[in-house]
Amino acid sequence: MDTFDQQHVWHAYAKTPNPVENHKVLSADGVYLNLENNQRVIDGMSSWWSAIHGYNHPVLNAAITTQLGKMSHVMFGGLTHDPAITLAKTLVELTPDNLTKVFFTDSGSVAVEAALKMALQYWHNKGQTDKQKFIAVRGGYHGDTFGAMSVCDPDHGMHHLFSGVLPKHFFVKSPSMVAMDEALDDLKAILKRHANTIAAMILEPVVQGAGGMRIYNPQYLTKAKALCKTHNVLFILDEIATGFGRTGELFALEYVDVEPDILCLGKALTGGYMTLAATLTTNEISSVVGVLMHGPTFMANPLACSVANASIDLLLNSPWQDNIADIEAILNRELSPLRAEDNVADVRILGAIGVVELTQEIDVEKVQKLLIDQGVWLRPYGKLLYTMPPFTISKQELLSVTNAIKAVIKEGC
Ligand SMILES: *Cc1c(COP(=O)(O)O)cnc(C)c1O
Repeated sequence: MDTFDQQHVWHAYAKTPNPVENHKVLSADGVYLNLENNQRVIDGMSSWWSAIHGYNHPVLNAAITTQLGKMSHVMFGGLTHDPAITLAKTLVELTPDNLTKVFFTDSGSVAVEAALKMALQYWHNKGQTDKQKFIAVRGGYHGDTFGAMSVCDPDHGMHHLFSGVLPKHFFVKSPSMVAMDEALDDLKAILKRHANTIAAMILEPVVQGAGGMRIYNPQYLTKAKALCKTHNVLFILDEIATGFGRTGELFALEYVDVEPDILCLGKALTGGYMTLAATLTTNEISSVVGVLMHGPTFMANPLACSVANASIDLLLNSPWQDNIADIEAILNRELSPLRAEDNVADVRILGAIGVVELTQEIDVEKVQKLLIDQGVWLRPYGKLLYTMPPFTISKQELLSVTNAIKAVIKEGC
């Protein structure tokens, strides 16, 4: 443990001084993090969904190094560059046909802010100035900036701390927590009463990630989109966690081929190398919006765009569907039986995502020690012990992860 770090540096959702140990990483390669004291652990978290190809990948390293020799950054006002143009072309090609315009940002939260702004500016310019609210789904997570926070789960997110400042939006029942018809009825009721004040609905397709790691029936997306369309409410999908293969489809929206009006991408976009996100929308929305009032300093950073281009090529030229199907099969075989354990409330698996929900809050420090002793890095939170490994993980390595999870459950943590 580094004392300066412990005393002076704020980590994610943590205190300073930090009562819980942060482990120092000296380097990383393949699916491994090399910690100090010669501990080598398999990263079962892909650094929060992003490192889908693992670490220190020669192809991704080369993409950044080559770009570094040309330029690391230029402003994206009045200037442009090939890495961004190529990436925009690829994203337009890979996402649904109606999405043709790309706005680059430097993080997922900011991509969500840009999406919300697009929706607000759209209705403003259409003369529908009352449409300033959003509908979000309970149990959702969309980021930590103020606009994004305002559409995160209102009870378990950060809402309650900032409730005096955050704008009030509408929250509907989640199809991951109630029957799909009940969730749709709830949405219908809100739309019927309030659609004239609502700009857009925002939700994570198929998997609600950081808000609780819950999975729902993709048919909900088709029906929710149709309801929004009928009531003149835009439909925003946040694929920041689910995009680039994680659920077994390239984008989770492909489970039902739903076409969102606005789409947010991030996290695995650069293979976990750099911070970059994108918000896509349609010809119609972009032409009504006109000038979008947003322009981050590090917008479309060339290093980030270059490594994103390389990461997407690497993914599409790999047998990613087979790899993820293999991961899903192992997660199913190894983790599903844990449902029978007394301290396990639920097991949820989709694609390269495996979630074990316990009946009690997890003692993070204790569990993390146990996991590291078994050569595995996971970051449990609340009652959730879960993995979303790099797609390049071997069967043997994945078994190390699932065995470590089983050991924690057996230990009764
Ligand atoms: C992580 C995440 C965000 C926020 O992205 P940051 O890059 O952390 O700002 C937004 N939406 C979803 C669904 C996410 O998983």
